[in-house]
Amino acid sequence: ELEMPAFTATKVSQYSCQRKTTLNNYNKKFTDAFEVMAENYEFKESEIFCLEFLRAASLLKSLPFPVTRMKDIQGLPCMGDQVRDIIEEIIEEGESSRVREVLNDERYKAFKQFTSVFGVGVKTSEKWYRMGLRTVEEVKADKTLKLSKMQKAGFLYYEDLVSCVSKAEADAVSLIVKNAVCTFLPDALVTITGGFRRGKKIGHDIDFLITSPGPGEDDELLHKVIDLWKRQGLLLYCDIIESTFVKEQLPSRKVDAMDHFQKCFAILKLCQPRVDNSTCNTSKKLEMAEVKDWKAIRVDLVITPFEQYAYALLGWTGSRQFGRDLRRYASHERKMVLDNHALYDRRKRIFLKAGSEEEIFAHLGLDYVEPWERNA
Ligand code: ATP
Ligand code: MN
Ligand code: MN
Repeated sequence: ELEMPAFTATKVSQYSCQRKTTLNNYNKKFTDAFEVMAENYEFKESEIFCLEFLRAASLLKSLPFPVTRMKDIQGLPCMGDQVRDIIEEIIEEGESSRVREVLNDERYKAFKQFTSVFGVGVKTSEKWYRMGLRTVEEVKADKTLKLSKMQKAGFLYYEDLVSCVSKAEADAVSLIVKNAVCTFLPDALVTITGGFRRGKKIGHDIDFLITSPGPGEDDELLHKVIDLWKRQGLLLYCDIIESTFVKEQLPSRKVDAMDHFQKCFAILKLCQPRVDNSTCNTSKKLEMAEVKDWKAIRVDLVITPFEQYAYALLGWTGSRQFGRDLRRYASHERKMVLDNHALYDRRKRIFLKAGSEEEIFAHLGLDYVEPWERNA
């Protein structure tokens, strides 16, 4: 007779790479609250508290049941005092007063708005906040501000970029990317990564990994693709970053480091007639007005050498928290250093080659976790 194995809190790992986290989150009311707290600490640049809440959120996302009593979290890792206080409040009151305070906080609200603009991070938000600015509209209206090329594009396409990318849009863009890449390199491999590879139905952008099994690397491929889109009028913005990878260099030990691949942060014009509700049932005036039949979409393209493809795929599939924990696990539990390019064994002083994600998990002595179980 089959029996459901009992849930044992003491067996839950502190590392999300040793847990399965699907999109089926039984504890959204807690994890949403933690994510607000984490974001507020990120805005204050206190990384330790930020990570504490991100780890707690990630842990509750992996639980196979909703937490309803404090007893449910007994014995679980990542449940510090701050975290427990908020869980207790939510269990008892239905919501947390601390989280409510953050959501109503002037600084949090302003930073939340500013960082929703493509190209605007915590540093820029800090500057604008100190200048007395509070909303996106106020920043837009201030003609004395010096904006970067990226931020200008961020404001220009703001409405489109804050509205999420759907799976259907991701599939449409995927075709555009594959067509363009294959024009120049027919046997290239184009893989969708990021949230969509983890099974998410919406995203803030679409991430692609491009590699070619053939001999020799083509530094020009990305430039050719971008030029083609320019000629086709599909490119609204792009920032190409050239490769800075140095062979034999040890993997980066920084937890959130950028990798060294040649890449491009772009905004593409996705042409598809949209049904716009606001223009549906109105009159002549609107009939004559030009209806915008395209949407600006954020696209990340990353070019990787074939030998590093598995590492790049693992890194770019995320989630960000899953990636952080993989690296932390590698260094703390295995004396290895992992990044988006390689895995280095510090005891044996060798680089461990891998042709698939499965091999990387095996090198680390971890059970394989499927992409859709990496939504930590
Ligand atoms: P979303 O739906 O919000 O796009 P996502 O999981 O796809 O969710 P991204 O910000 O697109 O989030 O990042 C995807 C993955 O790629 C993450 O795991 C992240 O760690 C990694 N990543 C993102 N930007 C970089 C970068 N500049 N350098 C290296 N890795 C990155
Ligand atoms: Mn993404
Ligand atoms: Mn991205």
